[in-house]
Amino acid sequence: CGIVGAVAQRDIVPVLIEGLKRLEYRGYDSCGVAVHLEGELRRTRSTSRVAELESLIAGEKVTGFTGIAHTRWATHGAPATNNAHPHFSADRNGRSRVALVHNGIIENYEELRAELQGYGYEFESQTDTEVIAHLLNHLYDGDLFAAMQQTVKRLQGAYAIAAFCRDEPHRVVGARHGSPLIVGLGENENFLASDALALTGTTSNIIYLEDGDVVDLQLARVWIIDENGQPVERPARAVVAHT
Ligand code: GLU
Repeated sequence: CGIVGAVAQRDIVPVLIEGLKRLEYRGYDSCGVAVHLEGELRRTRSTSRVAELESLIAGEKVTGFTGIAHTRWATHGAPATNNAHPHFSADRNGRSRVALVHNGIIENYEELRAELQGYGYEFESQTDTEVIAHLLNHLYDGDLFAAMQQTVKRLQGAYAIAAFCRDEPHRVVGARHGSPLIVGLGENENFLASDALALTGTTSNIIYLEDGDVVDLQLARVWIIDENGQPVERPARAVVAHT
């Protein structure tokens, strides 16, 4: 339903929470945030409102320079904490390595799940989304952007995706096909969202991604590859979002 992501040099939890609040009116049944904290992925999820998520996070003293957040409108799997995003995928030692949120529906998730189970991945949700997290982790070889480009080639259906990796702390990657995703440009910080509205007050300098785009956000650089795998420049526009 709603996506926010951030890579910055300040605590981005307030940006993620504020973004989710601005997207709340679209409706959702659960919500969650994941950040990079002290070399590990840290996640908080709730089947209640974003305000409840915010107080859970405050109680756990979660902060981070890099992170993603989601409001979920369940399509596959009941509204429950284990089905709420972000979804994680762990390395062979059981340490979570990839965190991912997704809007839309993955039509070939059953076949992908069977394949990934065959590689030894254990699923902890009933969502279609979790296959993307494990696939991205499975294809990861030190470069999350390359892994995301490989991942989307395997997906059928509609998606907007944001993800980050334990081993690349200053990077968030995204992809879109049939679900909206935008980039918000900042000063040595960059953002992703399903709607520019989510970034009101953070940045109004917005790039609208197109179907087939895969995007790499770093602190001082945004790199976009189009559906043909070619680097592409997309214009940034000053957007004043209306609430
Ligand atoms: N299909 C996914 C799920 O059920 C994403 C739903 C959404 O767009 O929020 O978890």
